[in-house]
Amino acid sequence: MYADIIIDITHEKLDKIFQYSIPSDLDGVLQIGMEVIVPFGRSNRETKGYVVGFSQTTEYDAAKIKEVLCIAKDSVAIESRLVNLAAWMKDYYGGTMIQALKTVIPIKKQEKARKKRYIRLCVDVEAGRQRLEHYLHLNQKARARLLAALLDEPRQEYELVTKKLNVTRTVVRALEEQGIVSLESEQVLRNPVRHKSRREEIPEYTKEQQHAIEQFWEDYSQGIRRTYLVYGVTGSGKTEVYMEMIARVLDEGRQAIVLIPEIALTYQTVMRFYGRFGDRVSILNSRMSQGERYDQMERVKAGEVDVMIGPRSALFTPFPRLGLIVIDEEHETSYKSEQAPRYHARETAIRRAGTEDASVVLGSATPSLESFYACKKGDFQILELKKRAGAGELPAVYVVDMRKEMKAGNRSIISDRLKNLIKARLERHEQIMLFLNRRGYAGFVSCRSCGYVVKCPHCDVSLSSHRNGKLVCHYCGHEEAQITVCPSCGSQYIGGFRAGTQQIEELAARQFPGARILRMDLDTTRTKDGHEKILEAFASEEADILIGTQMIVKGHDFPNVTLVGILAADMSLYSNDYRAGERTFQLLTQAAGRAGRGRSRGEVVIQTYSPEHYSIEMAAAQDYEGFYDAEMKYRELMGYPPVEQLLAVLMTGPLEELLDTAARYLKDFAVRLDKNRQLQIVGPASPYVGKVNDVYRRVLYLKGADYKLLIEVKNRMEQYIEINEGFKTMRIQFDFNPMNIF
Ligand code: ADP
Ligand code: ZN
Ligand code: ZN
Repeated sequence: MYADIIIDITHEKLDKIFQYSIPSDLDGVLQIGMEVIVPFGRSNRETKGYVVGFSQTTEYDAAKIKEVLCIAKDSVAIESRLVNLAAWMKDYYGGTMIQALKTVIPIKKQEKARKKRYIRLCVDVEAGRQRLEHYLHLNQKARARLLAALLDEPRQEYELVTKKLNVTRTVVRALEEQGIVSLESEQVLRNPVRHKSRREEIPEYTKEQQHAIEQFWEDYSQGIRRTYLVYGVTGSGKTEVYMEMIARVLDEGRQAIVLIPEIALTYQTVMRFYGRFGDRVSILNSRMSQGERYDQMERVKAGEVDVMIGPRSALFTPFPRLGLIVIDEEHETSYKSEQAPRYHARETAIRRAGTEDASVVLGSATPSLESFYACKKGDFQILELKKRAGAGELPAVYVVDMRKEMKAGNRSIISDRLKNLIKARLERHEQIMLFLNRRGYAGFVSCRSCGYVVKCPHCDVSLSSHRNGKLVCHYCGHEEAQITVCPSCGSQYIGGFRAGTQQIEELAARQFPGARILRMDLDTTRTKDGHEKILEAFASEEADILIGTQMIVKGHDFPNVTLVGILAADMSLYSNDYRAGERTFQLLTQAAGRAGRGRSRGEVVIQTYSPEHYSIEMAAAQDYEGFYDAEMKYRELMGYPPVEQLLAVLMTGPLEELLDTAARYLKDFAVRLDKNRQLQIVGPASPYVGKVNDVYRRVLYLKGADYKLLIEVKNRMEQYIEINEGFKTMRIQFDFNPMNIF
């Protein structure tokens, strides 16, 4: 047996694993994650390293392999826990150990460390005065200026003082050589918290909030660690509940991680945490440079931080005394990584909490089916908040059937009802949000007269219209010809749905002259903080109408918004994905939740071609549980997650024929592994975008009830791929229970 060892764990070029042999006294003792001392380099310098795995064989000359010296003394360092977590992720999600390590360990970028330099007076005042006299006497004006300034204030920042007094480096050096001053430097760890902490009022908790907090605390204070789901409508005070739980955990000397989707990580949200916890809070976000992120991790290790807020990657904050992980909006797809290892933050958080004596608190108004299912099975504990805590009743929701609208002669994207409601709002100087649901849109084909959607006869997901003129199923590869006449009603209004935010903006400008309109989509938010600026402008009522994609659904509170129009609710409903119904329900519910957060009750208009679809019906009724029951029936019937597990094998390569052959081989291999016929293996299919930049893509799906079996099959496939030359030109990735269309 050989131990695979990583030497410099935070190095930017973390890409090499060294092999060492294991001395007999450590045989069976060494474990993944352990910090060990090994001889390294030509001089056999004693160096620290981490065990990241074990192998039976080595590619090197076995005689030349060195031996592990010993286990490092303080070998319970936080890094070793993270290395352990990485090993779990590699196994659970696929990919290499290096990829997993790079995900969990903050990598030091070799950029210039930001340092502040200081000049310090190192003689006493009396000696200083004498020296000053001396300089003046010799007419050495620059030296005199610098010394006089330091006599006023003995330690000053180098750049500032030299600039202000106009003294050169030579002058400073002269004083340094004479022993009058010394230079010091201090590494600056960038702190993103630029604001002074201020105490925010803690509200008097509602009965429901109190109950949730107490249930959590009863367990926690007795040492019981669990996973909880705070299931509460938008505005029910979930964030207040998290903050109270965190405060109590901090009181015990523990630390907390709060995951919030990037898009909801707004100034408003973050300020609430600063208000409560002051500068013990730090944040991470994707706009930070790698250096800034690394600094945050260093601050954490230095013990300056107890609460870390950030998107998915904040999960790997190296807290030594982690006590709680909160995941807000736990249903969000951004919690799943799209790079190997394609981990899900929820599962990984539960794993990390389990090994570090911490609890996990998930929160959502529209929980993922996975989490609600886990509550039903008793794996998670549900904490329910049924009522809004602050101001505002839940809005009234109307569904407009766009097929009827068309029959009545209105071919516009805005229905008559919505148009009239917008006019009334503009007169009353209240604000309006128009939400264009484009999520997961993947070229489905539907009839605008009757709502008919072309679906795969085998998979019950919609077919995608490909550029080659065919309709294709992205799960099983089924193909059929494009159609021009609706098979259901004979109408010619059948085709793809193409309206974009810009068109809606133009239409709104024409229909409501004088209205001030803001548009938020990928185009208008490209600049840094562009997203925040638009929301800010709308919040301060610089516009009457905000038009946007799913980006507008999260983050800010807009108390003056009393009307939300959801255009094309169907777009996400017929994305060619088994999660389409769930995603649609979530988006509609969240969008509706934007209306009436202030004093007056809000109204919501959902425009759709399929008002009878349960996702839309239940969203209109704001009935999550009704939706859950209906959706679970579909998942059970089709064997989709969370009832069964789905493993996607994503294959890309430059040579189409070779890729097809390899995909078939891989499928046959999987079929052979599945001796007891416990899996359903479909594909290989060509996904919606079958080719990107001349790289072809294929996908194979394995479905089964047993996750462990799928992991086994995955491991065997990984070996098979590694030892077969035929796969060399391809990239193959595994994705368990995928969130997005490949
Ligand atoms: P959620 O996270 O569930 O959307 P928040 O915690 O953001 O809910 O609360 C919604 C609004 O209600 C916020 O403005 C918050 O300050 C306020 N709020 C929360 N709890 C209370 C309470 N117990 N009393 C008064 N206002 C509250
Ligand atoms: Zn039709
Ligand atoms: Zn199919």
